[in-house]
Formats: sequence, C-alpha cells, structure tokens
Amino acid sequence: MAGANGAKGSMAAEVAVVGGGPAGLVTAIALKAAGLETLLIGPQPADDYRTTALLAGSVTALTTLGAWTACHAHAAALKAIRIVDDTRRLLRAPEVAFSAAEIGLDAFGYNIENRHLIAALNARAAELQIPRLAAPALAVASDGAGVRIRLADGAVRARLVIGADGRRSLCRAAAGIGTRHRGYPQTALTLNLAHERPHHDTATELHTETGPFTLVPLPGKRSSLVCVLEPAGAAELAKTDDTELAAEIERRAHSLLGPMIVEPGRGLFPLAVETAVVLAHERIALVGEAAHVVPPIGAQGLNLGLRDAATLAEIVADAQRQNADIGSPSVLARYDAQRRADVVSRTIAIDLLNRSLLTDFFALHGIRGLSLHLVDRIGPLRRAIMREGVTPAASQPRLMRGEMV
Ligand SMILES: Cc1cc2nc3c(=O)[nH]c(=O)nc-3n(C[C@H](O)[C@H](O)[C@H](O)COP(=O)(O)OP(=O)(O)OC[C@H]3O[C@@H](n4cnc5c(N)ncnc54)[C@H](O)[C@@H]3O)c2cc1C
Repeated sequence: MAGANGAKGSMAAEVAVVGGGPAGLVTAIALKAAGLETLLIGPQPADDYRTTALLAGSVTALTTLGAWTACHAHAAALKAIRIVDDTRRLLRAPEVAFSAAEIGLDAFGYNIENRHLIAALNARAAELQIPRLAAPALAVASDGAGVRIRLADGAVRARLVIGADGRRSLCRAAAGIGTRHRGYPQTALTLNLAHERPHHDTATELHTETGPFTLVPLPGKRSSLVCVLEPAGAAELAKTDDTELAAEIERRAHSLLGPMIVEPGRGLFPLAVETAVVLAHERIALVGEAAHVVPPIGAQGLNLGLRDAATLAEIVADAQRQNADIGSPSVLARYDAQRRADVVSRTIAIDLLNRSLLTDFFALHGIRGLSLHLVDRIGPLRRAIMREGVTPAASQPRLMRGEMV
C-alpha cells in the first residue's frame, strides 16, 4: 500500500485521513507514530505562501513527532507581540506589549511559511511510510461497521475516517454535521516582504477600522503580512504592482520596518467564523478547518487544528490499546467533549474582538480599550493571558506536553 497514488480497486485501513493540509498530515503522522494502520487520502496542496505562527505547544508537538528539525531553518522566533490601536476613533485602546520572557519562555512560538511546514510534514509522513492516495475523495458513506470512501479509480474502507478536508468538508457533510456560520465583510490580503529594518523577533498587530494589519517575523529581515480590509479594497490593493504595493504597506505600517520589497505569492482570503455543531459523528471525526474556521487574529486557527490532531490521535490510540472499536460512538463523544471548550471559547473571543473593531458602537470601543488598559497595567493578568494563549488550560494533549500519544 505504501506510496500508492490511486486506490485501484478496493483497499482497507484502520484509519483513513482525508485531506493533506497541515491538520491532516499531523493527524496521520501522530496516528501512525502510535502504531495505527493509517492511510492518507488527498492531492498535494498548491504552494501556500501564507505563514502560520505556531505557538509553543504546537512546536512541542511537531518536535515530539520528529517534524520540527526540518521546519526550524525556515522558522522565525516570536519573542514579543505588540498590539496597537491604529483606529482614528475617539476611544482608542493603549498599546500593549507581551514578552515571552515575562512567562519564562524564549519565544511564544515560531512563524513559518505553510509551504515549508507542509514540505516538512510530507517528508516525515514519507519517512514513516504512511501510504498516500494522492487523489480527492469523491464520496464518503458510513454504516454501522465502517466507512467507505470512493475515489476516481477505486474505494477505501476504514473503521474510522478523519475529515481534515478543510472548510468545505465533504466528510463533514457525509457525517450529516451542520455548522454555525457567520461571514464578515472582510478579506485578508496575505503576502511576504523583505524590509530594511530588523523586526527584533517582534510581531506587530495594528488594529484598524477594517480589521487587523499584522506583521509577523520571518527569518532574516523578512516578515509576513496579513492585511484585513473590506473585500473591494483588498481586491483593489492586491492588483497594484509590487512597487506601489510595497509603498502602500510601508505607509500603513508607519514605516516601522522601513522600505519594503514585496515577494511573489499574494493571497486573498474572505473571512468567516464557522464551527461544526459536533466534532464527530457516524465514524467520522473532524480536525482543523473542517471543524472550525476563525479569522486570522491572534494566530489561533491552525494551533487549534493541531490540538484537534493531538487530542484525537491520543484518544484513538488509547482505544486501540484497550482493543476497543476506534470508531465507536463513545470514542467520538470523548473527542467532542475534550475539544469543545477550547474551540468554542477561542472562537467566541476572536469573533468578539473582530466585531469590536468593525462596529461603530461606541460602548464596545470603550470595553475593548478598558480591557487592553487592564491587560497593560496588571502584570498577573497579562501573564495569565499569555500563558493561556500559549498553553490553554482547557486542552493539553500529551503531544503538546512533549509525550508521544
Ligand atoms: C490569512 C490567514 C492567516 C492565518 N494565520 C494563521 C496563524 O498565524 N496561525 C494559525 O494557527 N493559523 C492561521 N491561519 C489558519 C490556518 O491557515 C488554517 O487553520 C489551516 O490552514 C487549516 O489547515 P487544514 O489542514 O485544516 O485545512 P487546509 O489547509 O484547507 O487543508 C485541507 C486539505 O484537504 C484537501 N481536500 C479538500 N477536499 C478533499 C477531498 N474531497 N478529498 C481529499 N482531500 C481534500 C485540500 O486539497 C487541502 O489540501 C490563518 C488563516 C488565514 C486565512
């Protein structure tokens, strides 16, 4: 089965992971490392120049799974984070700076381009000889004893299917799982930049009336940008030539990093918040954006997705060790129960913060300003928030603590 490119008839596996993005790859690697017979289904994603700020727990999990060494050369440490209210409103929040040293860490985490992260995960999956069918799943159907996945030239049967197939998840639909969805009048323009001044390992999030404008360090004098605008403005800005765009970004960044050069690989991402009503049903468990989509504020999306992967792999491996059915309703219910608080609490916080930027409602600006003022002034509160951001109390699966699943 190893290295397979198409199903060519009928195949069977204990677990089939549908989707070869970062959440799917990490889930497959964790399951295989735990000794489960795991099959990965999904085409290679196109080069994704977006970056992911991987927080400390995610870096620990990747290290434990043997995937971090290949990431490290492409990743930049995030030692400090600044949040600046760049709105022109009457009630503006004070600037708040968070330093990893304040909570005894070298760095909150590391920022890496998704294409390098995915290459490192693909290499680790190949080392572990995880068989891959590099084709999309066309249909997924559960019955009492297993799940059947149809591909263009064959079919796969598994006792458990992991839906890691992104925000328009076929697996989620097959399990009959609905979502709660809210679209925002916002689109993120993403690109990477070289700049004249050093970033000093500091990410800067400017809060504007259209959403965050975030510069996150990359190795050397380079940074990634997520610039959230109303959709027409984002599309317009994305069309400008490199020189004009670099000048406009420097202006919006208040020349913080000096003159800039725009690198190839711009992206436009409409923003939404979406959460699956339940995270697993009918022998299908969801991870990553198949389970939850959040706007890019505070670098939470994939970090949540990796906690899904680590938690699910741990629960499934435990069930396997006890000779239990790995796709049973009790295993799936345990996964849903262990992930729900983390997913829901972060989704609500990010949604509220994003909406407080967009609204013209005066009182909400005041509440946001007061909250940031308190965070700025009260050291223990600031440190508690930093610790919760990096290592959430509601979710500490073994991989995030440096233990194998
Ligand atoms: C602008 C922006 C900035 C972000 N920054 C951060 C950040 O700093 N930190 C952070 O933690 N998160 C961040 N995120 C979120 C992060 O990018 C996502 O959480 C992450 O990419 C989701 O990974 P995934 O594997 O779940 O989904 P995807 O990356 O969408 O992968 C899904 C995969 O499934 C495959 N697929 C789909 N359908 C099928 C099928 N039928 N059969 C087989 N395969 C299928 C697709 O081809 C794809 O490869 C950001 C998001 C945005 C939009």
